[in-house]
Amino acid sequence: MSGKNVTEVVPAGPEGIAKAARILESGGLVAVPTETVYGLAARADSDEAVARIYAAKGRPDFNPLIVHVTGLAQAEAYAEFSSEARALAQAYWPGPLTLVLPRRTDAALAEAVTAGLPTIALRAPAHPAMRALLGAVDFPLAAPSANRSGFISPTCADHVLASLDGRIDMVLDGGATMAGLESTIVAVRADGSVEELRPGPLQIASRAAGGAIEAPGQLASHYAPGKPVRLGVTLADKDEFMIGFGPVVGDVTLSAHGDLDEAAARLYACLHEAARAHHPRIAVAPVPEEGVGRAINDRLRRAAA
Ligand code: AMP
Ligand code: MG
Repeated sequence: MSGKNVTEVVPAGPEGIAKAARILESGGLVAVPTETVYGLAARADSDEAVARIYAAKGRPDFNPLIVHVTGLAQAEAYAEFSSEARALAQAYWPGPLTLVLPRRTDAALAEAVTAGLPTIALRAPAHPAMRALLGAVDFPLAAPSANRSGFISPTCADHVLASLDGRIDMVLDGGATMAGLESTIVAVRADGSVEELRPGPLQIASRAAGGAIEAPGQLASHYAPGKPVRLGVTLADKDEFMIGFGPVVGDVTLSAHGDLDEAAARLYACLHEAARAHHPRIAVAPVPEEGVGRAINDRLRRAAA
């Protein structure tokens, strides 16, 4: 299915959802809007379908996928939920929080979804299109960001086509995403402690020590626009495309008012524009390391690495 070279873009209305569900049932790939970024969805219970995600993205096979579910009831079929994990799911689902939990030994999912790990990453997304799609099928959806591995994450249908046109079956077009940054990922340990593995739109306090890199996909270089990126810049060089913030004016701005939520929502669109610009280099204004600014700076550091 996914070897064909036409990628259809269909509005995320009832007909689009029904068509996407049929493609997914037969093992195909559909890019779907979520409240974070567009995800590249395949049925998580099929080895072949999950293998297509890795092939279309050029994603290394040691980088596990997030499994998207309708809610806690479906999630409990795939992971062992401690009372702490259940409380987090009840508090933040549906929403941009991914829980890394012990994978149930009887979880009927493709092995490649968890890249051989004893844990599984689960999330119940809030976006109406993704929720409608999850409700229209009877399996969970594996869905990493809908971009070639290492490239900038997509926050609209055009961004998806920029890197995956001809490599996937369909894009469900639901307009621009809201949060604009990938989900917050936390691991809930057997002792009930919570550890942040990736900062994101939600700020969840970490309650554990230890600094080992455990989210295998959290590579230093990611979100790469394909040219050098300089951070913390207040005055751009002539050959730099400047991404501004607050008082630092640029060719584009993350947020003219210095609003961090707006900056998070606009980050990838600004990086896509900088990647397309004729300038050989990119400069980015300083962004405060507070609230969702932590997640923005995390993505910017990877874009610059
Ligand atoms: P993406 O879907 O592209 O946002 O990437 C999902 C990220 O989730 C990966 O890069 C991993 O770092 C993380 N992840 C998925 N499954 C696990 C897991 N079992 N343990 C730790 N991190 C995980
Ligand atoms: Mg990604």
